[in-house]
Amino acid sequence: MSAAGSGEVRVFAQYDRDFTEQADVVVVGSGPCGSVVAKELACAGRDVVLLEEGPPFTPADFVLDGATSMARTMREGGLRATRGTVMPTMQAIALGGGSLVNSAICARAPDFVLDDWCERFSLEATTRRDLDPHYDAVEKFLGIAPTPDAVQGQRNLLFRDGCDALGWSSEPIARNVRGCRGSGECFTGCRARAKQSMDVSYVPAAIRAGARVLTSLQVQRVLSDGRRVTGVEGQVVAPFRGSPSHRFRVDARCVVLAAGCMATPVILQKSDDLANGSGQVGENLQFHPGVSIMGVFPDPVSPQFGATQGYQSLQFIRDGFKLETLWAPPGVLATRLPGFGHALKHTLAEIPRAAVWDAIASTHRSLGRVRARRGSMDPALTWHLHPEDVPILRHALAVIAEIFFAAGAEKIVPGVHGLPEVMHDRDEARVLGSGSYGGKALTFASTHAFCTTRMHGDPRQGVVDELGRSHDVENLYITDTGTYPRCTSVNPMFTGMALAHRTALHLAERL
Ligand SMILES: Cc1cc2nc3c(=O)[nH]c(=O)nc-3n(C[C@H](O)[C@H](O)[C@H](O)COP(=O)(O)OP(=O)(O)OC[C@H]3O[C@@H](n4cnc5c(N)ncnc54)[C@H](O)[C@@H]3O)c2cc1C
Ligand code: SF4
Repeated sequence: MSAAGSGEVRVFAQYDRDFTEQADVVVVGSGPCGSVVAKELACAGRDVVLLEEGPPFTPADFVLDGATSMARTMREGGLRATRGTVMPTMQAIALGGGSLVNSAICARAPDFVLDDWCERFSLEATTRRDLDPHYDAVEKFLGIAPTPDAVQGQRNLLFRDGCDALGWSSEPIARNVRGCRGSGECFTGCRARAKQSMDVSYVPAAIRAGARVLTSLQVQRVLSDGRRVTGVEGQVVAPFRGSPSHRFRVDARCVVLAAGCMATPVILQKSDDLANGSGQVGENLQFHPGVSIMGVFPDPVSPQFGATQGYQSLQFIRDGFKLETLWAPPGVLATRLPGFGHALKHTLAEIPRAAVWDAIASTHRSLGRVRARRGSMDPALTWHLHPEDVPILRHALAVIAEIFFAAGAEKIVPGVHGLPEVMHDRDEARVLGSGSYGGKALTFASTHAFCTTRMHGDPRQGVVDELGRSHDVENLYITDTGTYPRCTSVNPMFTGMALAHRTALHLAERL
């Protein structure tokens, strides 16, 4: 019994019994990587089924309150965190995956990152020259372009001014948007539908090309017969509550897992440890831990206006961090601010004169793992901030403080435990770059995660090859950020889509 025809997105209310589907390819996960594969293969004439655990969202579903929005769009209500070193991390559960709630930042991995990947992980065809055609194709389809000044807002332009004053490079961030109004709402969903998240770009294109898209379906196992996979199975789950109902199975000639860096290893582990001859499934978990500072200016900044993240600096990328402007609902930003009660209220009252700027760090020594939990598809995450990576984060904080004072901030709120809660000038802020505090004093979070099913030229050391093809199982592919051998040092989505584009072209030829 089939539950899906083409031409529409199937939703929870439409499943009234157990069902099976047949397809050439089943793609698990509709995030940036899975959606690219589904669209490209459907356009190449292959019969594609795209499965997504989360529901679709419309502008009417988006709420501006950060906590309410996170409870609806994020896994574990947005409260997911690592153990070991405790770090909050967010993964979306929605049609479009992370692209629904992310800031639309599109950055190509720098040359030095791709060179490093090739050298360390025995990769032969993942150079700048190999990947640029795939980045180009995605860029063209999504209309990726630098953010124009007209929608930057003060918060972003002050960052540019600060970098200019210090002689440091900065540039407008390239984003997958069309007609952005600079509303700063990317985190809770773009009500203007300007952000080209997958649910308004690649997924509709996949449907137009004949793909069947089924939401509210949680894949729990990959089915296999010897060295071949035969499909996937799982359960219908209710949006937001996750309560299970009917069962489903999709039989396919090829399975593409794109459930994200946290979920793909769990699906494999729950499938009798499939594709894990290397022992690397769920290992090598890396993040870009992000640190941020709030700076307060003498005059109004009105930080709620302007592209959510409009300016960046790659000045220190070789030192291990990328600088960006940042905006999120005040309730979310408040989690990084010191104090409570009256003191916190006082700090929050200064937000109209404030900006928040952050750094994402390449912490290669800080590793973790993803493990399946009994009776749940949510992962158990452990991760440890390595002491030798702490200086990168301290350096980043010192640099952000410099930019704030160069841009004319009257004070900064660095959010480092044990240091003054407020600093008024460069001299006071110098301590941020010193060795006087350790990793435990830092407040960080990360929405960028990688490497849990890493690619490696040597089957003994990696789960997939450069095309995302399993080393162990003939017709199983993985295309999500878990396949990165190391972090990208810049925002990861665009590289994931480029790699997924390459995998799709390869599969279109093979199938
Ligand atoms: C708040 C936030 C802001 C960010 N900002 C940026 C940014 O501006 N630029 C950038 O480059 N990166 C950004 N990122 C990171 C970026 O969004 C992710 O790296 C990217 O979405 C990863 O793509 P993916 O396809 O690998 O996985 P995901 O986007 O996580 O997609 C995986 C999909 O699989 C689904 N899924 C999981 N398990 C199952 C299952 N068992 N069955 C069926 N479906 C399943 C999930 O619901 C999800 O939709 C941000 C992330 C967040 C959370
Ligand atoms: S800044 Fe506002 S209009 Fe622009 S993409 Fe983000 S949510 Fe949409």
